[in-house]
Amino acid sequence: MDTKEVLAVVKALNKQRDDEQQVLLLLGKLESGVSPTEKLLRETKVGVEVNKFKKSKNDEIAKAVRRIISSWKDAINKSKRERSAAAGATSTAGASTTTPAPAPAVAAAGAAGTTGPASPRKEAKFLSGKPRNSKNDGVDTVVHHNKLRDSVVRALYDALAKDSEHPPSSVLQTAVDIEKEMNALYDHVTSEKQYKEKYRIVYSNIISRNNPDLKFKITNGDLTPQFVVQCDPKELAPEHLRQKIEEITKQNLFNAQGATIERSVTDRFQCGKCKEKKVSYYQLQTRSADEPLTTFCTCEACGNRWKFS
Ligand SMILES: [Zn+2]
Repeated sequence: MDTKEVLAVVKALNKQRDDEQQVLLLLGKLESGVSPTEKLLRETKVGVEVNKFKKSKNDEIAKAVRRIISSWKDAINKSKRERSAAAGATSTAGASTTTPAPAPAVAAAGAAGTTGPASPRKEAKFLSGKPRNSKNDGVDTVVHHNKLRDSVVRALYDALAKDSEHPPSSVLQTAVDIEKEMNALYDHVTSEKQYKEKYRIVYSNIISRNNPDLKFKITNGDLTPQFVVQCDPKELAPEHLRQKIEEITKQNLFNAQGATIERSVTDRFQCGKCKEKKVSYYQLQTRSADEPLTTFCTCEACGNRWKFS
């Protein structure tokens, strides 16, 4: 069955949900006709629809649902395992980039494939007595004479320079390049909302305490500014978070109600109500994988909740 045919059955299931004979017939059609892939399940929501009959009083229906869901889950797990086995060799390669020692060029080139020819930067270590940021480094981040763009450059600089041993000129270049990619993807005037959203995603990943490797990979040049901006946000997430997100995405193929993930606390967001900057948040892919993440925030001080995407 192709997407269209599956959608037709899903629609019929919805329409005739009270006709047990029809439901059984339609479930039978799906059981024999669907070759489950993640894409198909996501596009048609057929897993979610079928799962709605899980608690049917009709024993035959309930049994069919259990059978179908478990065989689809198996199929998807199997294809996931095969894919991660194929990617296995490369994903371990990128793991050891925390040390500022000369980066192994091969390791950087392998992972993700999107990083392009790796050109690990070879500069003298920059050691600063003060915490590094644009002010302490004496760096002028006004490059565009545009308030929004320059504030993005500065925020990226401050995030990337922290704990870095790369000289200010190199960090600034990286920050400028990332901002340029953002602006090329979403013009800050005509697509301001997307531009800001992209910035938020990239920035929050760079400063995430769960993700200490990321900024070193960026400042080392292991990940190109282009990749950082254009990749699926999932690619930026640390390994455990990425797995969690995948797990949730998979669950969401079968459950109407989305699952959630652990929160992290940040001073990056400010509560609109009490102005405190102690905000916990988590991010979820609520729509399809190529749309931006939705960020759910809770103020730790007053309990105010909001979200943005
Ligand atoms: Zn608050």
